[in-house]
Amino acid sequence: MNADGTGQEDVPPGGASGSRGSRPPEVDRAAAARAAVAARRARAAVKADVASGARSGLDVARAAWGSDAATAEQSLRVRDLLTSLPGIGPARAESVMATLRIAPTKRLGGLGTRQRGELADWLASRSGRRRRASRLVVLAGPTAVGKGTVSAYIREHHPEVLLSVSATTRAPRPGEVDGVHYYFVDDAEFDRMVRERELLEWATVHNSYRYGTPRPPIDRALDQGRNVLLEIDLQGARQVRAAMPEALLVFLLPPTWEELVRRLIGRGTESPAEQQRRLDTAKVELAAQDEFDVRIVNSDVRTAAQEVVDLFSAP
Ligand code: 5GP
Repeated sequence: MNADGTGQEDVPPGGASGSRGSRPPEVDRAAAARAAVAARRARAAVKADVASGARSGLDVARAAWGSDAATAEQSLRVRDLLTSLPGIGPARAESVMATLRIAPTKRLGGLGTRQRGELADWLASRSGRRRRASRLVVLAGPTAVGKGTVSAYIREHHPEVLLSVSATTRAPRPGEVDGVHYYFVDDAEFDRMVRERELLEWATVHNSYRYGTPRPPIDRALDQGRNVLLEIDLQGARQVRAAMPEALLVFLLPPTWEELVRRLIGRGTESPAEQQRRLDTAKVELAAQDEFDVRIVNSDVRTAAQEVVDLFSAP
């Protein structure tokens, strides 16, 4: 681990001096040095993009938090991101970091949840691109709780809210329209979206198909001051929390466990074995409700939908 605790080194372990054992072979050291140069160049390119206005500080921070892979954004020091912003010098960067309680050597990837949230808010308010009113709400909950019905109700009755259209590798069901209910894509296209970091989050749901949230429409809508709703599974909600800590996470609950069982069996779309598997999953999912900011009980679709929509204007 390096000095600021991010675990992200420019030089892979063993590539730099300081180990007590035998020195690594010359060729490893040369490769490590080349990797370090490439990493520095990649970070310099990110800083140049921010300085020229080609990318916002918030875009860079979100890219750092939205990927598991080691990226130039993750290893960029917060101080370097801030001083790349037009009008921010070293002294101002230092005072902003002190206010946000971020240590001077911290890298974006090494920030905790609170620091990410506060830095995202600061970057958003500074750029002034996102209007105060815009908010991202994530609706998750156990299988069969009625997330799809609640979000469909919101799509129909609240066109002012942008309901994100996910990409999925599953086939359309009767009545589903490409680009409205989902973007139906094949595995190769989904792989491409993952590779090119077009997805804010993605997950394999119910051990079968992949689902993911395309990022550009969301960034655009938030920048325009629109409210955005995502209806995704639990794994996806956790990824959004990490990438966009300012998002509000909502957990939809069934009125009772018996009602959840009734809804799952009643819809008759799954085989008995699949129903049992999903009920087992639902138990695990219900246990995650404390991770969420808000819980809403779905006793009645219209009321639950209104409660979700009210969150966009809640303080
Ligand atoms: P269905 O195939 O019945 O439309 O959806 C199955 C599950 O996938 C639902 O739990 C739904 O919330 C979840 N889902 C839909 N879109 C996304 C997405 O973009 N990301 C994630 N992580 N889950 C999604």
